[in-house]
Amino acid sequence: MTGALDKYGISRLNVTHLSQQFWCERQVALSLEHPREETEEMAAGTEIHRELMLEIVKEVSAETTTIEDEIYLMMLNLRTGLEQLVSEGKTRELRVFGRAGEFPLSGIIDELSLNDGQLTILDHKTRTKPSLPPPPTFATAEIQVMLYRKLLDDLRFGRYTPDQFFTDRRLPDLGDISPGMKDQLEAQGLYEKLTPAELTVEVFSAFRKLPAISDYLIVRYLHRDSGSHIGDKVVLHDPAALDKKLSHALKFWTGEREATTVKSRERWKCNYCEYRGVHCPL
Ligand code: SF4
Repeated sequence: MTGALDKYGISRLNVTHLSQQFWCERQVALSLEHPREETEEMAAGTEIHRELMLEIVKEVSAETTTIEDEIYLMMLNLRTGLEQLVSEGKTRELRVFGRAGEFPLSGIIDELSLNDGQLTILDHKTRTKPSLPPPPTFATAEIQVMLYRKLLDDLRFGRYTPDQFFTDRRLPDLGDISPGMKDQLEAQGLYEKLTPAELTVEVFSAFRKLPAISDYLIVRYLHRDSGSHIGDKVVLHDPAALDKKLSHALKFWTGEREATTVKSRERWKCNYCEYRGVHCPL
């Protein structure tokens, strides 16, 4: 592990870590030091995401007891999602992996669809107010969807490989799944004579067959209570802007600088922060 990852005892970053840095970096650091309890709003958001996923995705579930079982299950669901995308034109909750600088990075794309031969990335956000968010709130969503596009494109072009995935997850000698996992998969008619490593290679090959990704990335806002559609915002992918923002963000994770607080003109954000006056003096 490196820099701040060591300090916070995490082995990789996720897209939310990086995108939330553009809301408040200190808040990201504090959420790792003092994990938040799930609020009603978070639980409602998670529930809406799950309902949306189950509308179209047939999730494979099984009890896992080893890391091999976990990787196998993850890859099985990923393969199903990629097959669904190609055959039906849409899938939801698709996991993507890669790196940001030297750091392993992963994320879950809410929705991917095929439109006019191109892939469209869509992220769902829930809001308590039935209106679109103001620009400062939107900045994190912008980074988030651009990061999804970067990760997916790196997989499409083979810039992130199964070997890098095994290295990043510290899985040099991945064995086979447990007998219990095999029994569960057999009972569901899903067992195949493939090791977790072989299945991973198969999934990475499936990523490489995906068509080009649209530069127009969609953020869809849904009303938290009713689930109704408030509206969409479209982000035009800008790789140069993303690189610049990433290079700034990663300096915190490498330990080159401390976490910054919000700028003085954005102090209003602190009114919504549970760490204010408790762990953060602002
Ligand atoms: S109180 Fe303000 S500066 Fe401190 S962590 Fe929360 S949002 Fe960031």
